[in-house]
Amino acid sequence: MNKKLKKIIPAAAVGSLLAANAVKAAKFTPEKKDFPAVPKEEVNSERVQNNLSKAIQCKTVSNEDPNLVDWAEFDKFHKFLEEAYPLVHKTMSKEVISNASLVYIWKGANPDLEPMALLAHQDVVPVTAGTEKDWEHGAFEGYNDGEFIWGRGSVDMKNHLICVMEACETLLEEGFQPERDVYLCFGHNEEVVCSSDPGAEAIVKTLKDRGIHFDSLVDEGGAVLTVDIKGLIDTYIIGVGMAEKGYCDYKVTVKDKGGHTSQSPKHNGLGKLANVIKDIEGHQCDVKWLPFMDNFLETIGRTAKFPGRFVVCNYKLMKPLLKQVMKSIPASACLLRTVTGVSMCEGSPAPNVLPQRASVTVNFRPITGESVADVEKHIRDVVRYKDIEVELLRGKEPSRFSPVGSDAFNAIDAICSSMYSDKAVATTPYLVMGGTDAYFYEEICENVLRFAPFRFSVEILQTTHGTNERCPVKVLDDGVAFFKSYIRLVSKENR
Ligand SMILES: [Zn+2]
Repeated sequence: MNKKLKKIIPAAAVGSLLAANAVKAAKFTPEKKDFPAVPKEEVNSERVQNNLSKAIQCKTVSNEDPNLVDWAEFDKFHKFLEEAYPLVHKTMSKEVISNASLVYIWKGANPDLEPMALLAHQDVVPVTAGTEKDWEHGAFEGYNDGEFIWGRGSVDMKNHLICVMEACETLLEEGFQPERDVYLCFGHNEEVVCSSDPGAEAIVKTLKDRGIHFDSLVDEGGAVLTVDIKGLIDTYIIGVGMAEKGYCDYKVTVKDKGGHTSQSPKHNGLGKLANVIKDIEGHQCDVKWLPFMDNFLETIGRTAKFPGRFVVCNYKLMKPLLKQVMKSIPASACLLRTVTGVSMCEGSPAPNVLPQRASVTVNFRPITGESVADVEKHIRDVVRYKDIEVELLRGKEPSRFSPVGSDAFNAIDAICSSMYSDKAVATTPYLVMGGTDAYFYEEICENVLRFAPFRFSVEILQTTHGTNERCPVKVLDDGVAFFKSYIRLVSKENR
């Protein structure tokens, strides 16, 4: 081959590869959606704002110990709902289950259809003692400054519950009648992790005994996130939680002789425990690429802009690199593995006493495909010092994945695509890190979706369970409109 040709051939190869990739990138656009635009809904803005404020004023704080719950606050909340939503209470049946959980049933015109359900929890977490004064407005005042409604539960999740109620009340005012039954299921102690008596579980048991099976349900979980990275992407990500991770607390204990600190050996029980912790932290659980991740990356990637899309369209080739990057960032690593969080330690009861028992509590969030028992095995495998006690304090298995593409999932996609039409919308399956009441409903429903129709900034999301929790007033109208459209679409027989 002559010299000239030797140069031309590789250049031509690279050129055609680039051209092929350009074609690939050009085709890598959002998939065509065959649903019609969803009409805009009327919303009573003033009423939803007032009612969220009043809802926050009911201190429905849950507690692991039912004796420490102020049940009068739940009664007050129920009374408020009755007064605020007269048509709902006139039209729907209402039942109180297990202390204070609520189930409303809106009878549909066609009893042959499976019911649909909307879930929310009434309870909120307490305000951490000593931080009350850090709030700009009292945590239970429900103060509305015109921009935000402040208070515990304004984001998690009285906003959601109130928007569901508003949607039903408004639909009733408009004379709407669903075809299938609509269930509203509001648990009373979702915030108690691994509660021994979850209201949601009691609701499910009651419904199961009655032979009820839901077509689909929506509970808290994902949200509407705006992702705007210059030159790469400017998209609303509609994260629909199709599954949630499990939960378990393991206590790992090292035993030792104890004795007086004046004659301490070089390493006592706590020193040995330090090595245990080092082993646990140093050997994180394996990374898994669950199938939803492909869907997640592809759906979002298809909304990327040039020149970003030129790279993103090859995300499958870049998976190994992507995995490495995601693994190193806690916010993305949790999508790929069972997360390990060392949280509590105990040693001896006094400064001059050597510990006879030293222990560490580790919280794990098992990912789908791994179990609470797998976590114990993992601990025993990675800790080199074998004379340990491993005790499960509490545990809950990860949920299963709901199928993508159900009518309920598509309804969320259709509504959000119409509602947030000013930029690209990527409705994508997502894995929820925390627990939800929806977990219990797997027994009576295959399409368990976790999605809150609120456009929140990361800053607002971070106030959840913290100081200055507040809900932007402007997202409430979208919340009510979403649930109105959702009930219209999903309660229909032929969707
Ligand atoms: Zn919640």
